[in-house]
Amino acid sequence: MARFTTLYSGSSGNCALFEEDGRALLIDMGRSARSTKTALASLGVEPDALGGILVTHEHSDHVAGLNVFLKHHRVPVYASERTLAELTRQNLVPETAALIPIDGETVDIAGFGVSAFPTSHDAVDCHGFRIESAKGRTLAIATDLGYVSDEVMANLYLADVVALESNYDVNMLMTGKYPYFLKRRIASKNGHLCNEESAAAVTKLVTSGCNRVHLCHLSKENNLPELAMQSVRVAMLEAGVVPDSDCVVRAAERFDISPVWFL
Ligand SMILES: [Zn+2]
Ligand SMILES: [Zn+2]
Repeated sequence: MARFTTLYSGSSGNCALFEEDGRALLIDMGRSARSTKTALASLGVEPDALGGILVTHEHSDHVAGLNVFLKHHRVPVYASERTLAELTRQNLVPETAALIPIDGETVDIAGFGVSAFPTSHDAVDCHGFRIESAKGRTLAIATDLGYVSDEVMANLYLADVVALESNYDVNMLMTGKYPYFLKRRIASKNGHLCNEESAAAVTKLVTSGCNRVHLCHLSKENNLPELAMQSVRVAMLEAGVVPDSDCVVRAAERFDISPVWFL
């Protein structure tokens, strides 16, 4: 049986785990190595047993723990060629780190078939990942994107679990304390998904067969789990989908391990 969860999720740090039969991959490590290892320990995963760490992009909420972690554990890092170059340029990984480029081609990483797909975000070369386990269970994860492109949608379709960001509530962002330039950046095509955009994508996925959705990367300042969940419920009901029956949706925990999806 495969399992998926986030160790923590949100603007203060992101990290997800996909595991099957003792083989495991992490996606990002945006809090300290220590917090990440504590979370891994409570899931019964040894750091040295990780088959790889997939990195979506170089922003600190995705890589903050990498440098220290990689100094103690020789786990290979997979990301796009340009993201790896940026991690090196910014000294976000130790010189000894094993850095392996991946792209849209499916490659085998510790028994998982992994492919990367581009997302529109203000990073050097941001990507999401589609990961298939040896037993054919599929995770699709996209956490930093200003809009859901056709290519992103194609990669999210027919996954056993979809992890999609639901970053901000439009009203909270626009009436909140962020400076105007930052509000514009977040709401731009190179920023993040608002709850309604995420809910629209989720509803399309559910009508084509997806029945497990993990809403992630919720903003601490500009969102609440209840608002993200409510947006999805409203969009589903409008599309004739029965929430909790046709599809189970959860909002990820910010600082804790979220309930595990068993696939
Ligand atoms: Zn980012
Ligand atoms: Zn982020």
